[in-house]
Amino acid sequence: ASAASLALTLTACGQNSEGGSDEDKGGSDGATVGIAMPTKSSERWITDGANVEKELKGKGFKTKLVFGEDDPDQQVSQIENMITQGVDALIVAAIDNKSLGNVLQQAKDADIPVISYDRLILSTENVDYYASFDNEKVGELQGGYIAEKLGLKDGSEKGPFNIELFAGSNDDNNTRYFFNGAMKVLKPYMDKGQLVVRSKQTALNQVTTLRWDGGTAQKRMDDLLTSSYRSAKVDAVLSPYDGISIGILSALKSDGYGSGSKAMPVVTGQDAEIASVKSIKAGQQTQTVFKDLRELAKVAATMVDAVLNDKKPEVNDTKSYDNGAKVVPAYLLQPVSVDKSNYEKVLVGGGYYTEGQLN
Ligand code: BGC
Repeated sequence: ASAASLALTLTACGQNSEGGSDEDKGGSDGATVGIAMPTKSSERWITDGANVEKELKGKGFKTKLVFGEDDPDQQVSQIENMITQGVDALIVAAIDNKSLGNVLQQAKDADIPVISYDRLILSTENVDYYASFDNEKVGELQGGYIAEKLGLKDGSEKGPFNIELFAGSNDDNNTRYFFNGAMKVLKPYMDKGQLVVRSKQTALNQVTTLRWDGGTAQKRMDDLLTSSYRSAKVDAVLSPYDGISIGILSALKSDGYGSGSKAMPVVTGQDAEIASVKSIKAGQQTQTVFKDLRELAKVAATMVDAVLNDKKPEVNDTKSYDNGAKVVPAYLLQPVSVDKSNYEKVLVGGGYYTEGQLN
């Protein structure tokens, strides 16, 4: 890989790559792209892996795809292995955004460009581009949905309503973007007393969910119901991700929500995973945020193709994503709020799922 990338760099500088073999010159010409995904425990990353491979193969690349089982050390060694095996570029969706500094230095030393996929890798200069969604917008859609469903928008005086807040993994850079986006909408209602967090757990570090684990969220929701809702009802739960929403819903169901006079609260989500879309259809989870992973895969593959051919990839954001070492040029896609009223149009009509998959 290093020879290949170096050959490209030298060619770009108008020099000859002495000793560089001709058939091994990057681009789609037999180059191999290493793809590191964080886990198979959530449907979305399996889909991401398959989509990215498909897009790259369509451009003539070879691929190596690995999943890290949500274990940061395992991901580091997987990336190390791919570097040793001589990949020409890397696409990485990090597990712990701060754990990749050393291994990405190795990538840099071997002249391997790195695309940060969906989650921004922090505290290293050795990230070339970032392909993701507008992550703050994801949170705004979740928070905005709750406000609208509770009838709080447009200056209404309604309330107080009880809400509890959940956030994602504290080692995922997206977590604070999702949370801040949601709080941008919800905080003004909290300040006015129209939304009340009975547990008083409102700071990000009080509401995170390590590794986005649904079981951890279920446990926390159980605890919240016991400590703060023996004589009150929850009206809304801000959930950042479908797997967390499913855990929250289990706790709510065990406490009698969703039957008799105890209506399910508004529960948000993210990723439009099949289990959650089914839950939405069944009137349990209320909303999710759909991110078209087909498009994200295209963006990432197009970036790799450009970089390996010594061209500048198209970006649409050069200021939002400072990783602590540099502002990483990004291409951000738009998320879409999905609930019972539009899942058919967006997800089935858009060819993302067949109706049959959602039954
Ligand atoms: C992704 C979300 C996903 C979450 C848990 C985040 O980094 O942006 O789409 O729900 O990780 O896997």
